Amino acid sequence: MTQSRGWAAQNATTPLAPFKFSRRELHDHDVLVDIQFCGVCHSDIHFVRNEWGNAIYPVVPGHEIVGRVAAVGSAVTRFKPGDHVGVGVIVDSCRTCPSCKSGQEQYCDVGATLTYGVRDRYGDLTQGGYSNNIVVHDHFVHTISPRLSAAGVAPLLCAGITTYSPMRHWKVGPNKKVGVVGLGGLGHMALKFAHAFGAHVVQFTTSESKIDDAKRLGADEVVLSKDPTAMKKQASTFDFILDTVSAPHDLNPYLEALKRDATYAQVGLPDQPPVINMGHLLFKRRAISGSIIGGMAETQQMLDFCAEKNLVADVEVIPIQQIAEAFERVVKAQVKYRFVIDMASLAA
Ligand code: NAP
Ligand code: ZN
Ligand code: ZN
Repeated sequence: MTQSRGWAAQNATTPLAPFKFSRRELHDHDVLVDIQFCGVCHSDIHFVRNEWGNAIYPVVPGHEIVGRVAAVGSAVTRFKPGDHVGVGVIVDSCRTCPSCKSGQEQYCDVGATLTYGVRDRYGDLTQGGYSNNIVVHDHFVHTISPRLSAAGVAPLLCAGITTYSPMRHWKVGPNKKVGVVGLGGLGHMALKFAHAFGAHVVQFTTSESKIDDAKRLGADEVVLSKDPTAMKKQASTFDFILDTVSAPHDLNPYLEALKRDATYAQVGLPDQPPVINMGHLLFKRRAISGSIIGGMAETQQMLDFCAEKNLVADVEVIPIQQIAEAFERVVKAQVKYRFVIDMASLAA
């Protein structure tokens, strides 16, 4: 067994605290990764606070992992010790169903194995990246360009792929007007990608203090979503809108902003369902859809795209000892724009 150290939640209400646990011995296809940085995703907070009702404790959260390969199993050919690698939201899937075979492991028909908080195929409880190391099947390990800042890359493994994948799927590009709702971890990556893909991008935000940042990050226009007049001006003009908001909010003004036949894609996962005025869907044949992370091949494509464009997340690097304060700031929408934990702080 590999001995591991991390910070875990023992229940929904007490703060994360130091925790020792073990990870499995390396199987033939396994990679042992020494973790350097791990991003703080709002999903970590939803999960450890049991806001989705599916938490299992103890849980070490974290699924935006970057580090260096420490050891590999006998059948691993893609990686060797010292390589710069990343691990995201899933660490296994059946690999035989139609979704897995078509490279959409995140939609595995029997359910992909999440990086933390579920039982894996060996019966072990998976534990995430707020820790010093992780053991992962090589199919779920990604190559990271050593030219990019490792801390800035970490959020690409969830926030990055979660926004890249739907934008590719719904063909965001030149001559398309695209909206991003919410400027947080996912939102700021969505903005960077939509801009990089050549779309006309409109950032919707509730935070006046983020307007200048939104422009710097690539927004062609910024709309304060609390202003009904500004929202009305956008009516029936969007080809696509991506909603990254973590809390319940009114979708109806955004649905009205879509053109005929356009799609509203949800990637944020609030703990309460929205109330939809069906008229907004019927009269212009608009669609609401959703998307979750991305497949393994697409995740590597996204990382390669980011390496080519020198595109990473805007991060605030923190020691693990500041995680409670970081969670509070994320919930208050005050992070600019992703906390990333420096795992060297585990030794402190
Ligand atoms: P985040 O950094 O907290 O960003 C969420 C943003 O939503 C905030 O910055 C804020 O933006 C806006 N917001 C927050 N509360 C709001 C409210 N009450 N009304 C309106 N807007 C509000 O969170 P994140 O890490 O980007 O994650 C966002 C959501 O995506 C979470 O629910 C998370 O679980 C989910 N998620 C889904 C996937 C997937 O695969 N689909 C992957 C990762 C995360 P402004 O200040 O600009 O308004
Ligand atoms: Zn995430
Ligand atoms: Zn499958």
